[in-house]
Amino acid sequence: MAIKPTIKNAGLSFRGSLTPIAKSKVKKIVQHHMAHQTWDIHDVHKFHRDSNGWAGIGYNFWIGFDGTIYQGRGFNVGAHVLNHNHYTLGVGYQGDFTKQKMTDAQLQAGAALNAWLVSECNLKASDIIGHKDLASTACPGKNFRMTELRNLVSGGKVSEPKPSNPTGDAFIRQVQTWLCNYGYKVEVDGLKGPETRKGIVKVYQNELNKQFGAGLAVDGIPGPKTYAAAVNVRRGAKGNLTRVLQALLYMSGHNPGPFDGAFGDGTEKAVRAFQKAKGLGADGIAGKNTWKALL
Ligand SMILES: [Zn+2]
Repeated sequence: MAIKPTIKNAGLSFRGSLTPIAKSKVKKIVQHHMAHQTWDIHDVHKFHRDSNGWAGIGYNFWIGFDGTIYQGRGFNVGAHVLNHNHYTLGVGYQGDFTKQKMTDAQLQAGAALNAWLVSECNLKASDIIGHKDLASTACPGKNFRMTELRNLVSGGKVSEPKPSNPTGDAFIRQVQTWLCNYGYKVEVDGLKGPETRKGIVKVYQNELNKQFGAGLAVDGIPGPKTYAAAVNVRRGAKGNLTRVLQALLYMSGHNPGPFDGAFGDGTEKAVRAFQKAKGLGADGIAGKNTWKALL
């Protein structure tokens, strides 16, 4: 019996209901990369749900660069290899392993997860396969460490994965990772520091330039021009300006829920709470006054 590793709930909402898959029906565990260098589980979930029109993320489980294991569809029929989903589980890994390396943390987490799935479903290490073993694809990429993974599972040398010593606050680390991916390098230390705030403001200025032709200097320092260029951001908004809003709300002590760039209930609630705290009209819409107070 392998020990169940820690599997995080990513708080994903699926459209409609999922179909349970019995462990006795599972014959293979299929490994996938994202073929994308930065997407996190929320990006993948949104793509599968909103662009592909699926119920939500197609993978049963998902592993980030830092070795955190997330539940995707769990023990429900996945959508990861056409015509093979009814007897397989899919494990997705963050990254593009045709170009990037699979991290040590991902290998350890993948081994812990697969060892547990192998024992739960009464399989062998050789039942751990890659997407390309079932379909014509490069997935999970040439850098996927399949031999090491199978050896760890068959040798029973699997330990509870430790995410690589994350420090500080998880939400802030997500914000900082996003800033780095956006092109503004900051240290991913999980701390609400001035460089992080500056990076967020830079994204804000850059997005106002890109989306609205605001013509602002992208210096990370809010001034009269930046304040004046504010646009209304409200429920239903999606994208980087909403991420900026969520990051600034969190920095000011109002948790908007997931850092996903989608303006829903959590973000609206946080905007109202922030507005109330600042003595602004609590309409739940981030307009000029709210932005000014946040920046
Ligand atoms: Zn795949």
